[in-house]
Amino acid sequence: MILGVIADDFTGATDVASMLVRAGMQTVQVLGVPAEGLPEADAVVIALKTRTIPAIDAVAQSLQAMEALRKAGARQIYFKYCSTFDSTAKGNIGPVTDALMQALGADFTIACPAFPENGRTVFRGHLFVGDQLLSDSGMRHHPLTPMTDANLVRVLQSQTQQSVGLLRYDGLQKNAAGAVAQLRTEGVRIAVADALNNGDLLTLAEVCAELPLITAGSGVALGLPPAYQRRGWFQPSDSAAQLATVQGPVAVVSGSCSEATNAQVARWIADGRTAIALDPLALHTGAQTAESLLAEALPVLAGGPVLLYATAAPDRVKAAQAELGVEAAGALVEHTLATVAQGLVQAGVRRLVVAGGETSGAVVQALAVQQLRIGAPICPGVPWTQSALPQSGEPLLLALKSGNFGGVDFFAEALRQAGAAL
Ligand code: ADP
Repeated sequence: MILGVIADDFTGATDVASMLVRAGMQTVQVLGVPAEGLPEADAVVIALKTRTIPAIDAVAQSLQAMEALRKAGARQIYFKYCSTFDSTAKGNIGPVTDALMQALGADFTIACPAFPENGRTVFRGHLFVGDQLLSDSGMRHHPLTPMTDANLVRVLQSQTQQSVGLLRYDGLQKNAAGAVAQLRTEGVRIAVADALNNGDLLTLAEVCAELPLITAGSGVALGLPPAYQRRGWFQPSDSAAQLATVQGPVAVVSGSCSEATNAQVARWIADGRTAIALDPLALHTGAQTAESLLAEALPVLAGGPVLLYATAAPDRVKAAQAELGVEAAGALVEHTLATVAQGLVQAGVRRLVVAGGETSGAVVQALAVQQLRIGAPICPGVPWTQSALPQSGEPLLLALKSGNFGGVDFFAEALRQAGAAL
């Protein structure tokens, strides 16, 4: 193993793994730290769920993951967070970075959430989401990690005792190694790095390839494989993204209520495809159940793809939350969709698209999937993945989409890419 990645959430792990595969690294994603040790691959991504938990727990879990990766031979550790730098007032980006630096004996690292292909750029230390500053974007209303300051130097400095500085765009352009050396001389321990395009990410990766620790969104991962290759550490493989060919019925389950997913569901319905809606209130009274949903879905599966969705507009989500409570509504929908996914797989579905980060976590857990081999991207940040069913070992292809990703035709596009005739 060359690179060991610790990701602070599930779909974020798939996102960074996808970047590595794109650049020719064989990459496996595991869910948590497996007791039986880590698989063989150029890169292993450990998916944690540490973004919003108490900092002390996030630190403990991240250190445990780091130790497993080091034990398996990782030359470099990568702490992956969201491209919108999602963090609470107390962390967890700062505390986890501090702990990893200390454990690895690192006296310098970078922090760079930039992902230009998805509109996330950093300039003068300020994070932009498309044309807006982070603090003007929808992220300011996020229920768990509202981001109200776009100045990442300030945000990160409030989460760590170590000195946070800025690796400026101009320095990066002119002489990146010199700019880094200068920051180190000034006593900077964590440098927020500007990056406006993939070229900047390549430069940044090259100058950071031998650091014990990198902290970043998924973007920087794009530049690491070529930097490793220049050092003779690995050869890119043409088959890195190759997954098994599978047949049979296909389906989509969606528990994301993001704008992007709402548009994707609307498009699916407008295209005249089969769609079955979940109603949280009916689930609560028992008028609708996972069994009743499956009874509706299974008979039509043979005729074409089926979408089961809880996706709804904000006013409908709010109404359900007012009636049931935010957490209870979320848990009820997640649990039902996970049971539905189980039923679909039992009925022979081997290509399944899941929309929603939390929803994906619930589905993968219900299917008892432990490892995902990462395939080709459907859109930036969302690849097809292959896992083995626990009983039979049969291949199962999953596309796990975090809420805001994907174009309006994402569901059909994903299924077509997996060989389904639509
Ligand atoms: P995203 O990636 O878009 O954030 P997630 O799956 O992570 O999607 O989160 C969406 C949350 O909203 C889940 O907990 C899901 O169960 C919940 N949810 C989905 N549909 C509804 C609904 N109609 N009413 C209330 N909550 C819902």
